Amino acid sequence: MNIHGLQKLTLLDYPGHTACTVFLAGCILRCPFCHNADLLDMNAEPVMDDAELLAFLRKRQGLLDGVAFTGGEPLMTRELPDLMMRIRDLGYGIKLDTNGCHPEALRGVLEKGLVDYVAMDIKNSPERYAQTCGLEKVNMEKINESISLLMHEAPDYEFRTTVVAQLHDRDSFLAIGPWLKGAKRYFLQAFADRDTVPFAGFTAPSKESLEEYAEVLRPFISEVSIRGV
Ligand code: SF4
Repeated sequence: MNIHGLQKLTLLDYPGHTACTVFLAGCILRCPFCHNADLLDMNAEPVMDDAELLAFLRKRQGLLDGVAFTGGEPLMTRELPDLMMRIRDLGYGIKLDTNGCHPEALRGVLEKGLVDYVAMDIKNSPERYAQTCGLEKVNMEKINESISLLMHEAPDYEFRTTVVAQLHDRDSFLAIGPWLKGAKRYFLQAFADRDTVPFAGFTAPSKESLEEYAEVLRPFISEVSIRGV
């Protein structure tokens, strides 16, 4: 199995854990603000294989306690559950980032007890979802199924939105609040521009805008926080 990136230490990607971040390639969305556009193609150049990753994790036992899977979309990799199982056997906690497009695979790893924490992107209000993902159409049934899985089956989870000044406004969150009513935790993350972002011209929202959006969400979601400002 191909591994497409490894950040050997992160204190941010898996909150409460000293973790590494594993990147897996492939994604069916085309968010114009994506930080990892070079990982959207499943045939992207690997940096190692699963055996090398497991060897790394064996060496770091006692130093690291978590593995965060991100991408791309990790759930597109068929061998992921097997790899997670082997990582579990080494005693690591597992966090998964997902775009919510693959609820069947998400259900699989949840049912097998392979993940401790799931972070799912909420790209925008349902009306603006496809546009924000850079597509004409997105299967919202799958997104809704993933939302429901997180809220009812995940041991712990968060929803999160990368907020871009040109793509999100108050109306986005006026729609997202009632849509995710009863959710446990939601993070608003300010967009940060990077060289790898495929489209130029996007900017972060102001701190005041983020605070306003958080207030809009709070009547519906228990814990709403802002990251990255
Ligand atoms: S879902 Fe994530 S990896 Fe896929 S295009 Fe969007 S930002 Fe990039």
